[in-house]
Amino acid sequence: MSTPQHPIGRWHAAADALTPETRLFINGEFRDARDGGTFESIAPRHGGLLAHVSAASDIDVDDAVRAASAAFESGLWSRADRRERQRVLVRLSELMLENLDELALLESIDSGHPIGDARRVDVPNAARTIRWYAEALDKVYDEIAPTPENAIALVRREPLGVVGAVVPWNYPLIISAWKVGPALAAGNSVVLKPAELTSLSALKLAELGREAGIPAGVFSVIPGLGRVAGQALGRHDLVDKIAFTGSPQVGKGFLTYAGESNGKQVSLELGGKSAQLVLADVEDIKACASAVAWGIFYNAGQTCHGGSRLIVDERVHDELLEEVIAVGRSLVLGDPLDEATQIGTIASKVQLARVLEYIEVARAEGATVHGGNRVHPDGLAEGYYVEPTIFDGVDNASRIGQEEIFGPALSVTTVRGVDEGIRVANHSDYGLAASVWTANGSVAHRAARDLRAGTVWVNTYDVSDVITPFGGIKQSGAGRDRSLHALDAYSFLKTTWINVG
Ligand code: NAP
Ligand code: MG
Repeated sequence: MSTPQHPIGRWHAAADALTPETRLFINGEFRDARDGGTFESIAPRHGGLLAHVSAASDIDVDDAVRAASAAFESGLWSRADRRERQRVLVRLSELMLENLDELALLESIDSGHPIGDARRVDVPNAARTIRWYAEALDKVYDEIAPTPENAIALVRREPLGVVGAVVPWNYPLIISAWKVGPALAAGNSVVLKPAELTSLSALKLAELGREAGIPAGVFSVIPGLGRVAGQALGRHDLVDKIAFTGSPQVGKGFLTYAGESNGKQVSLELGGKSAQLVLADVEDIKACASAVAWGIFYNAGQTCHGGSRLIVDERVHDELLEEVIAVGRSLVLGDPLDEATQIGTIASKVQLARVLEYIEVARAEGATVHGGNRVHPDGLAEGYYVEPTIFDGVDNASRIGQEEIFGPALSVTTVRGVDEGIRVANHSDYGLAASVWTANGSVAHRAARDLRAGTVWVNTYDVSDVITPFGGIKQSGAGRDRSLHALDAYSFLKTTWINVG
């Protein structure tokens, strides 16, 4: 629906006028794949064709990696004065904000994120991330070791070389920035393989990087199929590190590629089945319900740390669930190009089928299903929309209690008391994030200590920033994005031992 405050037509007109870059960006230039290969990019808001995007073959990947390696060896970026790298990356971040509307529109039409989220969250977050690492460059010190008096030993961070970044479709720009920002700041060359579903904002980022002054070869973007381009990058002997975010299955594949090639470093950020644990003494049920609902339904549940399991004390179950259902129903679901939209689309037809299948699994497993329908907005009947869905009465050990759905679906399991709550929350192959809601400070600290996850929120959910590390344990992977620790992840420590007599 269009209102004067939300001029729906503006973004449709802008989308129609847009001619996105669809070619590979290698060694500072946009060009077609050598074999002319392309793949179709589909707009999830209406299910129709958005663009034909160049598909990198093994040969194109090799071109990009060789260019990255040559650029690294040249020292033009890797040994540039860090203030020069800082200046260029700050400029990139400024250019991202100067191109806010276009980047947001690309992200929205390609991934189905609501345009409002893309403008307020995705693009500013990605730009802030790049800027934050750039600004850190002249504030981070290396070390001098406590040697005997006859020596001085320097422990310096040096760039690794060529970094291959392989990213998923759920937050294309933000996750790319989490990897590209620290990797480039540290002096590496980067080859980015965006997800097949969402290549367009990454190609715009490449264009802006060139405009900002990143030298040719230092940052390449190679759209392509995972099993072709992703695999070629993972197996390339001139790639020193793979920074991957995506599914556990593909992540483990990258460990194999590394083991069967040059033993490159691999960092993995994988999936999750994160628990939102609500104890009986929760103080503000309304605030809690809002956080629980947004914690799973934001971005239509396609968030790796989405709080997809609500583990709730039986004494507050009914009251809380009523509120969570009410919040879910109140969310405006619809066209991502309408500024009033709060929940956009599932990113692809395949993912839509997967979500709908899990809703059937939930029914078969005996859960009470609230919501659970595909939605067909006017004029967008073929788009991939699913309403916020809640499965009540879930056995945590069942499939819908254990398997990552990656859609707007919340599994609800009741427990009694904090001990059982923590035990059930920890009963998962994943360990990405968790939360605990309680008015008792020491219970909160104990739960935060005992919940096995890379991030634990207390009386909130999904607040975060580049200032803190993000990543998981168990099958959620071991890598860490964000914070100064990520600079270390793209550097190696060199010891220089100097005999001073
Ligand atoms: P995915 O299938 O693992 O894909 C991730 C990336 O790997 C894509 O670029 C993909 O390319 C590529 N790829 C696929 N198959 C490959 C292969 N055989 N060899 C090399 N590369 C390959 O994951 P997804 O479905 O895009 O994303 C959803 C998953 O990501 C979920 O499990 C979610 O939890 C996880 N995730 C985790 C985090 C985190 O930070 N922990 C963040 C976001 C998402 P194509 O696009 O061409 O398939
Ligand atoms: Mg797409």
